[in-house]
Amino acid sequence: MAKTVVLIELDRGQLKRPSLNAITLARQLGSDYALLILGHSLNEVASSLVSYGASTVLVADNPALAEPLADRYAWVIAEAMRKLSATTLLASSSTFSKDILPRVAALVDAPMVTDVLALEQENGETAFRRPVNAGSMLATVRLSGERRVLTVRATAFPTPAADAAPCPIEPFEFDPASLPNDTEFISREERASDRPDLGEARVVIGGGRALRDKESFDRLVGGLADSLGGAIGATRAAVDTGLAPNDYQIGQTGKVIAPDLYIALGISGAIQHLAGIKDSRIIVAINKDPDAPIFQVATYGLVADLHQVVPQLIGAIKAG
Ligand SMILES: Cc1cc2nc3c(=O)[nH]c(=O)nc-3n(C[C@H](O)[C@H](O)[C@H](O)COP(=O)(O)OP(=O)(O)OC[C@H]3O[C@@H](n4cnc5c(N)ncnc54)[C@H](O)[C@@H]3O)c2cc1C
Repeated sequence: MAKTVVLIELDRGQLKRPSLNAITLARQLGSDYALLILGHSLNEVASSLVSYGASTVLVADNPALAEPLADRYAWVIAEAMRKLSATTLLASSSTFSKDILPRVAALVDAPMVTDVLALEQENGETAFRRPVNAGSMLATVRLSGERRVLTVRATAFPTPAADAAPCPIEPFEFDPASLPNDTEFISREERASDRPDLGEARVVIGGGRALRDKESFDRLVGGLADSLGGAIGATRAAVDTGLAPNDYQIGQTGKVIAPDLYIALGISGAIQHLAGIKDSRIIVAINKDPDAPIFQVATYGLVADLHQVVPQLIGAIKAG
């Protein structure tokens, strides 16, 4: 029986690739692990998961799970943990897992640690390292009891190779009539975009308060992102002032990213923003204040007015 269940995140049946990184921690924990997916019409995505070294790919496939309603998902995941006698539930940190895993922890009466960065062994006991105070400090946490629920920082664990012998795919049987029925899915609103997903993009352009208005944000941050095939991110100040939508926010209370290239436009570099970008491979900052803290973490910095230099940069990239 699998001792660990790794919850793999899907978006309307499509795999969210950062969620695979939780498998790496499952491997480090050393016990058997099952991959669990929930949704509807999942044959294709289930087949894509068979070579990640799991003992099984467990598929909870039902029309009632077509949308990720947190109370229903939590109920099914808790059932799966009980039926497998699993002691550990793992998922990558995301809005999805933040919504669902605390509910599972309550249902199975397990302690929960979020944003695990590393596994540590202390005197034969397992402990987990996690950031506190927006990543300015690290805590090492040991859990008591049989069961545990963990989310991992996807950027702290490499993507696992899919090179194992294929494992079986098993339906997870449950009685749909037993599902909690207190919340109802009504609609989904989202922007159609050809840009890569912020959490998965190799290039991200971040915009700050200095963009001043939405037109400038779209033209300069969006224009540079499009010229480099990147995604758009924003500071909380940019979101709060209406320059960018909430799901663009990067940082302590937004998304944590680790692209190959992050370009910060008019961003001061507050600790809460840095918490979301510090694992980026190369950070480029454009800011008119030479003392802006962002320059302390930037690989390359340009002291300049972004309204002047960004259009030149876009023009130069387009000119080839
Ligand atoms: C509990 C808590 C959680 C938070 N979570 C987050 C979070 O998740 N993400 C986040 O980003 N913030 C977060 N914050 C807010 C954070 O503290 C900062 O206020 C925010 O990041 C600042 O955003 P900014 O850099 O866009 O704005 P500012 O700090 O106002 O910086 C604007 C920068 O633009 C520069 N500038 C101005 N004009 C130009 C120009 N023409 N050309 C070039 N540069 C120019 C300025 O020199 C300045 O450095 C949080 C705060 C708290 C208290």
